[in-house]
Amino acid sequence: MMPSTATQLVCQQCGAPLVVEPGTQFVTCAFCHTTNFVDKSGAVLHYVVRDTLGEADAEAALRRWMAGNDTVKDLDKKASIGRPQFQLFPLWMVTVAQDGAEKIILEPAAALSIIELTSIAIPAADLEPYDHTLDADAIAPTTPLETVKKWLAENQQVAVGAIRAASLVHLPIFVFKYEFDGRAYTAVVDAANGRTFASLFPSKWETPYKTLGGIGCVAYFLAALIPLAGYLLAGGAGLVTAMVVYLVVAAVLAVPIFAAATVISAKV
Ligand SMILES: [Zn+2]
Repeated sequence: MMPSTATQLVCQQCGAPLVVEPGTQFVTCAFCHTTNFVDKSGAVLHYVVRDTLGEADAEAALRRWMAGNDTVKDLDKKASIGRPQFQLFPLWMVTVAQDGAEKIILEPAAALSIIELTSIAIPAADLEPYDHTLDADAIAPTTPLETVKKWLAENQQVAVGAIRAASLVHLPIFVFKYEFDGRAYTAVVDAANGRTFASLFPSKWETPYKTLGGIGCVAYFLAALIPLAGYLLAGGAGLVTAMVVYLVVAAVLAVPIFAAATVISAKV
């Protein structure tokens, strides 16, 4: 059956015409058996990154991250971790020529809550042709490649002409839900090499931040007692002097509190 579009879609590997059934987006070339992904803009090569971690390995990787320096102390022991969901998450892998060098940009091809996932580097050696036995775990792309190209042009100054190649890559991930301190969180473990990604998590610096806020409140409350003390001790004249002292104290207090807040924010 011929595709209804005017342009004949060809295999991105060998150039043979692709036979596209209506409603199908995952197409295997009849000649070289390469899997192509077909959408409105044409055909692209379709890869999968082979998973090397099982569920237990992924949970171990998550616990190592929880025990590490970014998260609140003993999160690995205190969090209650649910069973993960295995998924093949679709990413558009776009090769761009920029400033005389080629770089690879990854963009999510479906809704993604943990955008950090696109910061990974996928070595070319890890890419294998996608095969249809994986369909049950694969999330179908919902963001067309055209949309990504438009987004790159508008937000990343990547001209359409600078795009050298594009392909679809399904990345194996484990999605974990866990609970800590009465709140639910999500973390993703890359099933190819165990890197953990999270947008929102119980941060190690949350506690010092709250403590600093508390100290600041107490300090300013005490400083505010100075004018009251001046008035009680020496009446109206005492109040004026005490107000001046209060303003100086308030200004001086701001310095260490602001400095500590800056240090903590830099580490969050
Ligand atoms: Zn082919």
